[in-house]
Amino acid sequence: MKTDVLVVGGGATGAGVARDAAMRGFSTVLVERGVLASGTTAKFHGQLHSGARYVVRDPTSARECVSESAILRRIAPGYVDDTGGVFVLLPGDDSSYPDRFLPACRAVGVAVEELDPALVMRQEPGLARDVVRAFAVPDGALDAVGLVRACAASAAASGARILTERPLTGLHVDAGRVVGGRLEDGTSVEAEVVVNAAGAWAGRVAAMAGCRVPARLSKGVMVAVPVRLVHVVVSRCRLPAHGDILVPLGASTIMGTTDTPVGDPDDAVADGAAVRAMAAAGDELVPGFSSAGPVRAWAAVRPLVGVGASEPGGRQVSRSHRVIDHGEHDGVAGLITVTGGKATTFRLMAEEAVDAVCAALGSPRPCRTALEELPGR
Ligand SMILES: Cc1cc2nc3c(=O)[nH]c(=O)nc-3n(C[C@H](O)[C@H](O)[C@H](O)COP(=O)(O)OP(=O)(O)OC[C@H]3O[C@@H](n4cnc5c(N)ncnc54)[C@H](O)[C@@H]3O)c2cc1C
Repeated sequence: MKTDVLVVGGGATGAGVARDAAMRGFSTVLVERGVLASGTTAKFHGQLHSGARYVVRDPTSARECVSESAILRRIAPGYVDDTGGVFVLLPGDDSSYPDRFLPACRAVGVAVEELDPALVMRQEPGLARDVVRAFAVPDGALDAVGLVRACAASAAASGARILTERPLTGLHVDAGRVVGGRLEDGTSVEAEVVVNAAGAWAGRVAAMAGCRVPARLSKGVMVAVPVRLVHVVVSRCRLPAHGDILVPLGASTIMGTTDTPVGDPDDAVADGAAVRAMAAAGDELVPGFSSAGPVRAWAAVRPLVGVGASEPGGRQVSRSHRVIDHGEHDGVAGLITVTGGKATTFRLMAEEAVDAVCAALGSPRPCRTALEELPGR
């Protein structure tokens, strides 16, 4: 098989890269070891981020969420549940945090409005009865699996080949340059550029060419009940910590999440202590959350690549993404890694990765993914 761009990974990022590359006219092959969206994308928390969560500590991520959530509402309305969101300050929370939160929201462009707590508690009867202050922001919920399928369909409509259940097992390196890859079934794919969009597994893919991805892996545990207990995304109004956010997704409500360093991207076990902590955090926001139905628990692993990734303290690390040209990073050309980030910002990540492909191939071509609507369901 011969192609301009070989994309490794069929999560939100890889599907976004395949769509973007194919729409720019590059012949494109995407390989995914499982089915589409079988990695972190299918196991995330479900939130379309307005950016409000990051405004104080991580304004870069916040700005990316502001612009990308607006774009997703435009190009993927069928995959966004525009619930709105509310940040609530509860007794015991740092009462000075809103003094930083409000101006920081305004500085990065998050539309924020202080609400009367009594009104919020009337509109959300399940919510804790002791809300001290409340702020409306444009958070929402995201059908990320639907989005991946739509990106893959759009990529295929532009000529891309989407190969699922086809793990990449090796990269071909010739004279210091990645020139393609080998699939588990023995197929060889010759490529001008390989884009490594393997999420938490990106380090393993890069290692196939002797390259490194400087990321710290962090596990997040989530719990859900099969009842929609709130109408809007509800977040604690405090610096990001464990168990801050309740997302109404479809007919369920998801509470999360944690942030625990792990060494192995396949270490996605939801351990009992974290599950109990998330259930208790849910009960703090919505009393009775954990007894509202059978509690389902799972975990997913995120690669943290932003500023501070080499330091301890996961919540300190920027949730932004990184595009690595391994020619510059490790002296091995032809391999570009795009990792980190959020489902909310997958389109931007893909755009930057394909910009790097254009630069590597000396063939600048404009990105159109923010302009063209994705296919519906
Ligand atoms: C706990 C948690 C909660 C989150 N919550 C949110 C949220 O609420 N909102 C938000 O916007 N973002 C959230 N995120 C971030 C978001 O989930 C991710 O940014 C996004 O889903 C990552 O997509 P990806 O395509 O980069 O990775 P993945 O979805 O993991 O895709 C990588 C793919 O590569 C494949 N792969 C790996 N190795 C190979 C190989 N050798 N050959 C072929 N394929 C391979 C895997 O099977 C996988 O499908 C959360 C993340 C975590 C961990």
